[in-house]
Amino acid sequence: MILHQLILADTGQAVNISVNDGKIDKITSGAITDHTTALQLHFDDAIISPGLINSHDHLDFNLFPQLGNRVYKNYTEWGAYIHQQFKHEIAEVLQVPIQLRILWGIYKNLLCGVTTVVNHGKRLTIEDSPITVYEDTHDLHSAAFEKAWKLKLNNPLKKNVPVVIHTGEGTDEAASDEIDQLIYWNKLRRHLIGIHAVAMTAAQANSFKGLVWCPESNYFLLNKTAPVKELKQHTRIMFGTDSTLTGNWNIWDHINMAHKTELLTDKELYQSLNINAAKVWGLNTGEIAEGKDADLVIGRRKEGVTSLDAFYAITPVDLLLVIHQGNIRLFDQELLPPLAPHLKGREFSLIKISNGYKYVDGNLDALTEQIKAVLPGFVFPVEVIDHQIL
Ligand SMILES: [Zn+2]
Repeated sequence: MILHQLILADTGQAVNISVNDGKIDKITSGAITDHTTALQLHFDDAIISPGLINSHDHLDFNLFPQLGNRVYKNYTEWGAYIHQQFKHEIAEVLQVPIQLRILWGIYKNLLCGVTTVVNHGKRLTIEDSPITVYEDTHDLHSAAFEKAWKLKLNNPLKKNVPVVIHTGEGTDEAASDEIDQLIYWNKLRRHLIGIHAVAMTAAQANSFKGLVWCPESNYFLLNKTAPVKELKQHTRIMFGTDSTLTGNWNIWDHINMAHKTELLTDKELYQSLNINAAKVWGLNTGEIAEGKDADLVIGRRKEGVTSLDAFYAITPVDLLLVIHQGNIRLFDQELLPPLAPHLKGREFSLIKISNGYKYVDGNLDALTEQIKAVLPGFVFPVEVIDHQIL
């Protein structure tokens, strides 16, 4: 596949890219003339970025609405509150079979151009996922909710596996003490990756290999977010959405909120969604460079908007093409004519999102119908028109 005339989201440079065997084969500002490659796409005023990496989600929790109706001191207070106040709502969603909930969680990400999502919780069994679900981590929920967390943290058999844990998700002393406890009890000096870190200080951040910043979730629960402006001097910052229990389904909504805080520079925020996350998780993605996995997102550039502003102006309706490891996973209807001959025999769903039409890999029709059969009140953010074998 050759992609012609794209603008790199971070530098504004015009490039042509060839993709082979799931990898980026070549990227050049010069022309790529190769008549043996059948699939060639020409773009006009479109920007390209690495497929987004969502470093924190609970895939099976994305049928929940946002639960909570005030500001909480910390996650334990919020957790106790929602289990008491929203017992019925929670039980209803949990009636949906877990495989369906997970698959919707995957699509929630794909529809926005996420090509890698780091799932928190028990290891999932997913066959043929259209995006990478990264789970090579040792997940502990949190100091308060993970039983025997100190023993699990100091399990010598897992010494070399990074530990991912919610930490410092609060604005009170308990939230900050919890971080000290975690650092103190990390006797094996394992790599720690902290989620949320709202109560974290710069000194504490030194003990973490990376932090996942989830601003939308933080503001919803705590009306405060992590001081990433300070923390970024001491560790790597990655970006996460968490589930719809605490935020919008659309990661671009979260990115916009983060952008407005100006706690990270435009470039730092961009890199928290790609190269920085890839480095912490040890993935061969997150960069548009030769030899990297061909995880790519191409979006329509809004008129008169240049450089990274064009990236931050993207919404799901602007996506033209999402490629995961060289496979086409989502495309705008305007690309149907050049793509259809190359996708013969593959199943795609036609969806309407805002006022645009996209084709998405797989049968979203069946998935949404199966979910609605159990949860008739659930409102999907997209309308599924049809599914077909191309
Ligand atoms: Zn979480």
